Amino acid sequence: MRLLLIEDNVPLAEELLVRLKSEGYACDWLVDGRDALRAPQDESYDAAILDLGLPGRNGLSILAEWRAAALPLPVLILTARNSWSDRIAGLEAGADDYLGKPFHPDELILRLRALIRRSHGADTSPHLTSNGLSLDESRQCAVTAGGTIDLTGGEFALLRYLMLHPGRVLSKGRLADHLYNLDSERNSNVIEVHISHLRNKLGKEVIETRRGQGYIFHGCHD
Ligand code: CA
Repeated sequence: MRLLLIEDNVPLAEELLVRLKSEGYACDWLVDGRDALRAPQDESYDAAILDLGLPGRNGLSILAEWRAAALPLPVLILTARNSWSDRIAGLEAGADDYLGKPFHPDELILRLRALIRRSHGADTSPHLTSNGLSLDESRQCAVTAGGTIDLTGGEFALLRYLMLHPGRVLSKGRLADHLYNLDSERNSNVIEVHISHLRNKLGKEVIETRRGQGYIFHGCHD
């Protein structure tokens, strides 16, 4: 999953970037509201975290333009504490959720997980479940009838994306777009290696390789 963070409070943004990375999210960070307008059209984001008070352009007007352009990106807005008028204005402008500052990063993570799952029509039970396989996002491990299977950070991030798109052909380019931010070096061999490790850990039938096309997540059927 790749996120867009738009926040002009530098210490807060830096803290969030570290936390989001540890949760397996690739994240691009913008400070100026003007840069945020086109960003979701130019890059592949799965959700945005949008502060409302920003230099250049305020968050509400950014959100209103995104929605006017029919951009389906799930958006969580960050509002000033106790500002009910900001929250209402944000929801009216098309925000999917909001969090009042100051907030605990744990709450942001939980809300993001739920937001991203809802945007894919998945339920918000404690574990992400898709085609018979469960993923414990807090512990970053797969859960099967046979027990839990530990995953590396890279395997976890890839499996989460696959599980949210079951039965669909996902090209390596698309996977790279959603797993890496602008600053990372993209190497499609890394994705191949993670896929091969996931197949070894979970069973070959869980992920199908389509030569020249990409990968399809089938899950565990038994
Ligand atoms: Ca601000």
